[in-house]
Amino acid sequence: MASSSSNHPESSQPRRPLTPAEMLATPVEFVRGVGPQRAELLHRLDIRTASDLIFFFPRDYEDLTDYRDVADLDEENIQTIRGQVVEIDGRSSGFGKSVVGVLVRQGNLYLRALWFNQPFMREKFAEGQQVLFSGKPRFKGGRWEMAHPRVTWLDGPEDQPEMRLLPLYPLTEGLSQYQVRKMVASAVEHYGHVLEEVFSADLLQQYDLMPLAEALPAIHSPQDAQQLERARRRFVFQELFILQLAVVARRWQQQVGFRAPPLVATPDIHARIQRLFPFEWTAGQRAAIAEVAADLAGETPMNRLLQGDVGSGKTVVALYAMLVCVARGYQAALMAPTEILARQHAETLASLLRASRVRYLLLVGGMTAKERAAALADIAAGKIDLVIGTHAVVQEDVRFAKLGLVVIDEQHKFGVRQRAALRQGEQSPHYLVMTATPIPRTISMTLFGDLDVTTLREMPPGRQEVRTYVVGPAEHGRWWHFVRGKLQAGRQAYVVAPLVDESENIAAASVAEAFERLSNGELAAFRVGIIHGRMSPGEKEEAMARFRAGDTQVLVSTSVIEVGVDVPNACIMVIDSAERFGLAQLHQLRGRVGRGKLAGFCAVMAGEELTEQAQARLDAFARTSDGFELAEMDFQLRGPGDLFGTQQHGLPPLRIADLRHDQKILEEARREAKELFAADPGLKSPDHVRLRRQMLVRYGNALDLSDVG
Ligand code: ADP
Ligand code: MG
Repeated sequence: MASSSSNHPESSQPRRPLTPAEMLATPVEFVRGVGPQRAELLHRLDIRTASDLIFFFPRDYEDLTDYRDVADLDEENIQTIRGQVVEIDGRSSGFGKSVVGVLVRQGNLYLRALWFNQPFMREKFAEGQQVLFSGKPRFKGGRWEMAHPRVTWLDGPEDQPEMRLLPLYPLTEGLSQYQVRKMVASAVEHYGHVLEEVFSADLLQQYDLMPLAEALPAIHSPQDAQQLERARRRFVFQELFILQLAVVARRWQQQVGFRAPPLVATPDIHARIQRLFPFEWTAGQRAAIAEVAADLAGETPMNRLLQGDVGSGKTVVALYAMLVCVARGYQAALMAPTEILARQHAETLASLLRASRVRYLLLVGGMTAKERAAALADIAAGKIDLVIGTHAVVQEDVRFAKLGLVVIDEQHKFGVRQRAALRQGEQSPHYLVMTATPIPRTISMTLFGDLDVTTLREMPPGRQEVRTYVVGPAEHGRWWHFVRGKLQAGRQAYVVAPLVDESENIAAASVAEAFERLSNGELAAFRVGIIHGRMSPGEKEEAMARFRAGDTQVLVSTSVIEVGVDVPNACIMVIDSAERFGLAQLHQLRGRVGRGKLAGFCAVMAGEELTEQAQARLDAFARTSDGFELAEMDFQLRGPGDLFGTQQHGLPPLRIADLRHDQKILEEARREAKELFAADPGLKSPDHVRLRRQMLVRYGNALDLSDVG
């Protein structure tokens, strides 16, 4: 390893001492003990500066505090025993395979440590040595064993080392725990002291937070579980507090900086819109409409998230808002995540607006340049009232004459930033975003903390029950027999093929494979269609149209049909290799059936070898049809990543907080952030300079906070 000390910046006499901020920004390669080669490996972990290394938190800890006698060992926990080496043996089984065994004695009890394929371990031991072994033991053949234990060599019988919690860091190939520990410790030692406390003494006391100077060494090298807990609490609070400050700041910025046209729904407008619908609104829809109407009537741009299960009738609320907007002389845009959905929304609008003078336009990818130019000209001239399209198409180069409202369907597919894209100067349209992926409260507070949330809980009348079955490999035959019966009776079915990989290529291949298998096998007697992401928009639309018209009886697809698609005659949903899907996604898929007059049937086909957790998830899915319950369960089981990949929401990942376990701290941090911001909007007070800087460094970019304060 090349030595880095010669080109360390501190050795080249700077003219003035570095400020703390400059010190912390020292490139990681210059941190003592790192050097250029390891620095490159650290970059892969997104560690670029001394500060990044200091705040590279352990992902877990190895508990070496459970120190036991051999007589008290169990097979459940990582435990540490002490003993004297009495025998060392090494065996090679050829083909490069070997086992090293080290037998230690403790009184009249023994434990044997084993290393597989690490012949060099043999050289590290000598008879008579005093050692500590830490690991999870097994009782085998009448004796305790530990495979690959952690070893501490002691100086002699008097050596009583400190039993500790050993930090375990995320690693990358080429770096060992030991090396990372050393480097982090070095960064903490050489740069930790320049960090300044961001919290006031009052606040530390009020929230029972460990001061930074104590918490920093404690998080990386805790004495015991209690100290670790306190240190962790401090950093989790800080992380969530900064995030909440950013969210509050963003909201403030939107309210202070932008004006939206007040769109008042007079009783007359309200009544006229209501008459367009062929059904009564549910109580939930009426409440949601009232909230939306109140927002629209104000000059502060609406920023509302409307969430509700698939089929809960969100579109009604959105259409209402759009029609109010048009009635007040402004334009509205509806953005859908896929072209299929955009078309479907256009059809809904068409039937609703048959007898009205509202001018609407579907803006999709397949238009000719000439058609598109004409459409854009009409929109810019205000000749079009409503524009429906995919979000990409609507955003590109569309200029509106008088844009009053933007509705975004399926918000979880959109980044936070995209919402800002349609603003012009100080003018902002109202925003309504809809999602059918129920969002656990913690997540919506975190990611959409700048949105007001309306939830549709009840379903419109006439929704049919969907019965869900977990179909194991042995029952596949019986299930397809059932499906054939339904198809013969004139019904239709969806088959969703496994999501093998994120890559469209592989997903398409697996769909093609399922299509071949079914159309030559179980469903050979029926008309089977296929749709997947690699088809052109035209091909997709055609496949969809054929299915809608009943020309194809079965539609094999990737999860592109996940959102929004509505074919009332399709009452069967088959999800292949369902264990690969998240619960929220399964729920979305199931929501495709049971929409019309027909009861729905959903089969989740499980692969051969299910983990216990996968089985539990599928069973839970079959048991409940409450999307919120499932979302919460998914969140608890798989974490938030599933719902909101970082690429999707555009926020940097959390470094230490775990939203599953830290909900209480999140609530505290949110409350405090709101109070602090209310007392000092823009965080201008000198007391808040550091907080403000942290907020901008971390979230300024992702949340467009550049002009706060
Ligand atoms: P979402 O967008 O929430 O999935 P939709 O708005 O598409 O749900 O509504 C699902 C179906 O229920 C649509 O066919 C719609 O026409 C119908 N629907 C919505 N609201 C009502 C209602 N109050 N009464 C009867 N049917 C309704
Ligand atoms: Mg919808």
